[in-house]
Amino acid sequence: MTGLDLAGQHVTVAGLGVSGVPAARALAGLGAVVTVVNGSDGERERAQAAPLEELGITVRLGDGDTLPEGTDLVVTTPGWKPASPLFQAAEAAGVPVWGDVELAWRMRGPESPPWLAVTGTNGKTTTVRMLAAILEAEGLRTAAVGNIGVPLVDVVLSDEPYDVLAVELSSYQLHWAPSVRAHSAAVLNLAPDHLDWHGSMEAYAADKGRIYEGNTVACVYNVADQVTEDLVREADVEEGCRAIGFTLGTPGPSQLGVVEGILVDRAFVENRQKQAQELAEVSDVTPAAPHNIANALAAAALARAFGVRPQSVRDGLRAFHPDAHRIEHVADVAGVAYVDDSKATNTHATEASLAAYEHIVWIAGGLAKGATFDELVQKSAGRLRGAVLVGADRALIREALARHAPDVPVVDLDRTDTGAMSKAVREAARLARPGDTVLLAPACASMDMYLNYTKRGEAFADAVRTLAAQEQ
Ligand code: ADP
Repeated sequence: MTGLDLAGQHVTVAGLGVSGVPAARALAGLGAVVTVVNGSDGERERAQAAPLEELGITVRLGDGDTLPEGTDLVVTTPGWKPASPLFQAAEAAGVPVWGDVELAWRMRGPESPPWLAVTGTNGKTTTVRMLAAILEAEGLRTAAVGNIGVPLVDVVLSDEPYDVLAVELSSYQLHWAPSVRAHSAAVLNLAPDHLDWHGSMEAYAADKGRIYEGNTVACVYNVADQVTEDLVREADVEEGCRAIGFTLGTPGPSQLGVVEGILVDRAFVENRQKQAQELAEVSDVTPAAPHNIANALAAAALARAFGVRPQSVRDGLRAFHPDAHRIEHVADVAGVAYVDDSKATNTHATEASLAAYEHIVWIAGGLAKGATFDELVQKSAGRLRGAVLVGADRALIREALARHAPDVPVVDLDRTDTGAMSKAVREAARLARPGDTVLLAPACASMDMYLNYTKRGEAFADAVRTLAAQEQ
């Protein structure tokens, strides 16, 4: 059952892939006349197009710029930049543009479950998974959905009787989703990322801030990240909606925080001036690195806003296990720990990751996406035993190391082939001493060398296993 009538409307879907394909299918199901446009025209695109064409959907490969004649509505997938010619043409023609999340929101039926939404530069997936685990521990029917890889259009059309959804939203998705109104939402943190897409830090922050618009119960912000609190203040929320902070320090009233190794709630208690509710222990969170405790507090805040009991927060956090390639311990070889944080694709994530270990041989490099590395190197220099650099933009990191950590030995592999990782691991092993950590935390995207960060992490883990086998 859906609340949206698009029968007979001409809808153009911008992009195939993980959100374009389900969006096109859902629109066809609503009786719309659907055309999918996609700039590239390769084997993968043709394979995706064929089943859509069988449904009567027109798929136009090789031209993503021209707006098909007679288009009433454009539905875009997240990758497309706002400045794309297709959107300019839509604007000129007075045609609205919705993201896939906007489409899902408008398709919800009258009985659809509320959304607990999460965004931020880093930690979204982890937090949404923690949140879903907590909601499940409470006995609620829920799922972790959205940018996490489960398209919202599929979720809102499914027959599953969910009580509540744990929704990950990217800044791209929020940009094109003006109508979404979450029950409660969290912005975990904000650091420069994807600025090539958004145009500026201000535009990026404004898109993230949209997640708070129209919240009914709680806007959850990071006390250590002033911008997130500013975004709450700027948001237009429902009467009675509260601002709830999370902090790694002692929480004030209306905050969740940490006191002597205990996660405590001073927000969702009867008397927040005098009372604090114990939720869980720091050791209930895996891994118990500081940034991950912050994620757990944000998840707990959203769950508590939804009325979840304290013991379910603890049980959910205990049941949670992080996804692969996020500070994943691969092996110990010759007294050195090898850790895969291939998902650290920007400097903010890498900073958190480097802060979790004392002596590190750092493997970094890839596509910098316009980032600079001076601050990251300055903050982490004291922990670096050495650095091994790979990938297209490694010179930027090498130069930052030369400026701010001139004594740290650096191996620049001058390679961008997939085989470079095994050489990188061998070089890192040479630099490391027993008790050190060799950490893959590239601070860059992976696409110069690998299909995605998963493949990069797997290449690292393979190389470590080969090294371990040789050591025996
Ligand atoms: P996202 O879905 O936002 O990309 P993930 O949970 O997949 O976030 O984690 C992405 C990367 O960010 C990982 O490298 C992880 O170690 C790091 N990370 C996770 N949470 C935080 C946080 N709160 N602050 C900084 N870095 C984080």
